[in-house]
Amino acid sequence: MSTPTGLGPYDDTNIFARILRGEIPSKRVYEDAWAVAFHDITPQAAVHVLVIPRARFASLAEFTAGASDEEIVGFFRAVGHVARTLGLEEGGYRALANVGANAGQEVAHLHVHLFGGEALGRMIAVPGRTD
Ligand code: AMP
Repeated sequence: MSTPTGLGPYDDTNIFARILRGEIPSKRVYEDAWAVAFHDITPQAAVHVLVIPRARFASLAEFTAGASDEEIVGFFRAVGHVARTLGLEEGGYRALANVGANAGQEVAHLHVHLFGGEALGRMIAVPGRTD
């Protein structure tokens, strides 16, 4: 599939594809037919988990344009389930998906970051702003 985000065609050698295939290790916290969740290797919060679909889509843009209804429902239910079972709902959490260059997306397989376990501050850091 062509990619509106400029990420290029899906590349099966990306690191999350390799994690899905079990070729490289990850600290998995959940998996089902639609999604796999594992700890981010460089956590940016007390809890920082990534949830990825098993389906092969480079980003949220390609996923929402090309995935089946079943894949979309299954994936987003898994995102909520992981946050719930990690105990993030009580204090609140942040779910974030970087898409393409402006967002600094590094890995071209859709992933939703779940951040929690502490107060997370502003959604987007604004240089020089302290409030
Ligand atoms: P993004 O910038 O949204 O593409 O985020 C990519 C995330 O993947 C970063 O937070 C990385 O720390 C994380 N990451 C990269 N390689 C691995 C890996 N092998 N296992 C777990 N997380 C990873």
